[in-house]
Amino acid sequence: MKELLAGVNGRVLAQIAWSNALLAFDFDGTLAPIVAEPVDARMKPSTRKLMRELANVYPCIVISGRSPDDCWQRLDGVDLFTVIGNHGIESWWADDAMRDRVEGWAAFLRQELLSMPGVVVEAKGLSVAVHYRHSPLGDGARSLITRACRALDGARVFGGIRAVNIVPERAPDKGAALEAQRRRLGCARAFYIGDDETDEDAFALSRTGRVLAVRVGRSRSSSAPYFIKKQGDIDVVLSTLLRLRRQGLGPRSA
Ligand SMILES: [Mg+2]
Repeated sequence: MKELLAGVNGRVLAQIAWSNALLAFDFDGTLAPIVAEPVDARMKPSTRKLMRELANVYPCIVISGRSPDDCWQRLDGVDLFTVIGNHGIESWWADDAMRDRVEGWAAFLRQELLSMPGVVVEAKGLSVAVHYRHSPLGDGARSLITRACRALDGARVFGGIRAVNIVPERAPDKGAALEAQRRRLGCARAFYIGDDETDEDAFALSRTGRVLAVRVGRSRSSSAPYFIKKQGDIDVVLSTLLRLRRQGLGPRSA
């Protein structure tokens, strides 16, 4: 894994900025710092300002684990091409039977995990998140939640930051969502940045050579070839992409 902002890798972002590229972002832990209560997550004013400017010179999308409405509210004022919620599922799966099934999973888990204080089941339409950040069991809660999820029929279960996520099997993931949007927009390349296990499907697209994948935080097990050290560095990434594109567009747009 290489450090994106290290001087030696300076040309990597230029290749994106000077091509027909789509910029795609995860929200929590990437555009916005991780906070104790997910409901309080918001971009810093400097990040919001940069995103507003970026969205005027690149096609920009956000692919988040949040529900789409929740995500749009947090990105108010940024002229995004689209927001894809529920880990990439949203916008493909509007099937009522599937929504009912996922709702049933949330109800089952609420009942099943009733005896675990600090565990919160969040139903998000086409996915469920079980948050355990307030559980006194800490990471021990994760295995108990995962065990309860075994009873769910047709579910794919994966970890997040102090949360367990449940989505329908074979539903599109963040990688499928990113690739579909890239094609839809006719972009030759894409930039994707995220911080979590749910971003790995998008990171894996870097193998195609068309996606520059960046992880917030170094990780040996990640498919992302590049990383930034911390969420607070996102503004440097955004301002660099902005500056490079303006240079590429010439003096009239500078
Ligand atoms: Mg994230």
